[in-house]
Amino acid sequence: LRELVEQARGQPAQSKEGEPFSLQLNLGVQVDKSWLQALQSDGVGLFRTEIPFMLRERFPTESEQVELYREVLQQFAEQTVVMRTLDVGGDKPLPYLPLSEENPFLGWRGIRLTLDQPEIFLMQIRAMLKASINTCSLRILLPMVSTVEEVDEALRMIKQAHHEVSEEVAEDPQQHLHYPQVGVMIEVPAVLYQLDVIAEKIDFFSVGSNDLTQYLLAVDRNNERVSALYDAYHPAVIRALAEIAQTCQRLQKPISVCGELAGEPGGALLLAAMGYRNLSMNGYSLDHVRWMLSQLTLAQMQSVLEQVLAARSAPQVHEILALEMEKLG
Ligand code: PEP
Ligand code: MG
Repeated sequence: LRELVEQARGQPAQSKEGEPFSLQLNLGVQVDKSWLQALQSDGVGLFRTEIPFMLRERFPTESEQVELYREVLQQFAEQTVVMRTLDVGGDKPLPYLPLSEENPFLGWRGIRLTLDQPEIFLMQIRAMLKASINTCSLRILLPMVSTVEEVDEALRMIKQAHHEVSEEVAEDPQQHLHYPQVGVMIEVPAVLYQLDVIAEKIDFFSVGSNDLTQYLLAVDRNNERVSALYDAYHPAVIRALAEIAQTCQRLQKPISVCGELAGEPGGALLLAAMGYRNLSMNGYSLDHVRWMLSQLTLAQMQSVLEQVLAARSAPQVHEILALEMEKLG
């Protein structure tokens, strides 16, 4: 199987009958550049900017951030790079921003924290924009959104940062600054019921299936006592994902999935059958998912999805998928 999977590299990402998929990378920590290049991804679907922040002892300055972001944007200059604004809090504390909360996952995290600390948000956006000068690859993604007001406020600040950087750039005719596309993560269940309102304001959505699973099932994703209950293949999660795909198709809003599910062959199969065409995952999952997609027609994937949607429990879903994976070898 490993050989077959490795042979998939270099092939276009497509289903057996040729339906194309865009397979992108989730990045955070520095990894070997030549390895990344060899994976032949379609750009970066999620750059977790909090990881370099977590590895330091103080907030990186604006110019340090510009360096960090420029490196990624330059490496993927021909493609798109989705940079997520700082998603700290919850399970991702910063050593230099100690938080003590009884329920950190329901607390001050992601966009909530950065909108309350506008200087952090503005500095990060300015750094992203400066790093993107003379490229068109930057896209900005907002994490942990739960209200429309957060989207409005973030868009207003992005506009402000863009205005500031444009003024600096205006003096140099060699420097061109694009306005980046802006997207919202679907990871708090409330967003599922406001997709239409939010879609009018933004350019794309990205599903964070890790947090969406945690919040739909009310299971702390890091608590071992309840870890058996944390399952992205729970029928409720699967149905939510299918609904999101349908709604975004109706709204004609681009959507991708960047949670772990997209990098699991069984998960990718279901997502493909639901209509998702953009999947973002860790580098080591890319070949496997590319290979799996090439082995099945969309109709075959849809027939697996039908069985899964009729299942009553997560174990039943796993059983159906295990059987399919076994057939593939
Ligand atoms: C997610 O929640 O699925 C996601 C991609 O973000 P993170 O895992 O970084 O919270
Ligand atoms: Mg998340």
